Amino acid sequence: MSDARIIDGKAIAAQVRAEVGGHVANLKRDHGFVPGLAVVLVGEDPASKVYVKNKALQTVEVGMKSVEHKLPAETSEAALLELVGALNRDATIHGILVQMPLPKHIDSLKVIEAIDPMKDVDGFHAVNVGRLSIGERCLVPCTPTGSLILAKTVMPSLKGLDAVVIGRSNIVGKPMAQLLIKEDCTVTIAHSRTRDLEAVCRRADLLVAAVGRPEFVKGSWIKPGAIVIDVGINRITGADGKGKLVGDVDFAEAVKVAGSITPVPGGVGPMTIACLLKNTLEAAQMQHGLEVKSFGQA
Ligand code: NDP
Repeated sequence: MSDARIIDGKAIAAQVRAEVGGHVANLKRDHGFVPGLAVVLVGEDPASKVYVKNKALQTVEVGMKSVEHKLPAETSEAALLELVGALNRDATIHGILVQMPLPKHIDSLKVIEAIDPMKDVDGFHAVNVGRLSIGERCLVPCTPTGSLILAKTVMPSLKGLDAVVIGRSNIVGKPMAQLLIKEDCTVTIAHSRTRDLEAVCRRADLLVAAVGRPEFVKGSWIKPGAIVIDVGINRITGADGKGKLVGDVDFAEAVKVAGSITPVPGGVGPMTIACLLKNTLEAAQMQHGLEVKSFGQA
């Protein structure tokens, strides 16, 4: 059997961004405004700082307005809630993203719930979570949306597939499962208490790994020909002593068994910001009472 097709997340993310950019230009020409995204960072977490910088750069690249609020780690919950309130009222801001994790003295859930659901471009607000679960239009978390777009580049209709999602977090596993149900997959959600995880995975025509454990899913767990979407981003020390990024799937083994697979880096990772921009565009269209045009494959 030949090696799996590698799903090029970098190229597909660039296509999504180009499409968003086209819609932004049309909004500016036809309606005289551009979507605005505000990103709020509290504290100095190095990984978060990199994410926020990349988000701002790509927001500007697609022609949107980007606003960054960098607050010190000791910012009070009340001050953060006040800022969120001001952004909710700001008509030039259509999307609000508060970078997680927040410092321990701030209640993340309280902050998420303070964001206007129409501006909740992370899709974490209970209103959006609820709307997703009843199959209504809503803002969907970015990483699962990106993962679905990647899977659909391999197989435009996922109808009837056995899909297994490893991980049940609110930001990846659960919304991923909801999206796959909507695509008419038969979905199993596996987690740390799942019995015989290997056998569960071996049933999957579509396997999504969102575990947070480096190279956890082995080649022998994968059904020959399956689509494998690796959401994991783990920094490990390679054999050469240097740091490197790996996914939750043992890529070297899996590539020999799967039909198609996302690499790490260059798979799901780039799709997350692209889908954040897609969400900001859709949020702006909704807030202006315009038709939300679906694009990409999700
Ligand atoms: P969480 O830690 O919130 O969730 C991990 C899930 O994996 C949990 O549901 C947990 O089960 C399950 N799990 C842990 N160990 C096992 C095990 N031994 N067997 C089966 N299931 C297990 O992680 P996230 O969902 O936030 O992230 C998952 C991965 O995706 C991480 O590597 C993260 O870095 C990456 N990520 C990547 C993004 C991107 O942009 N590409 C964005 C977000 C995350 P239980 O619930 O029982 O504890």
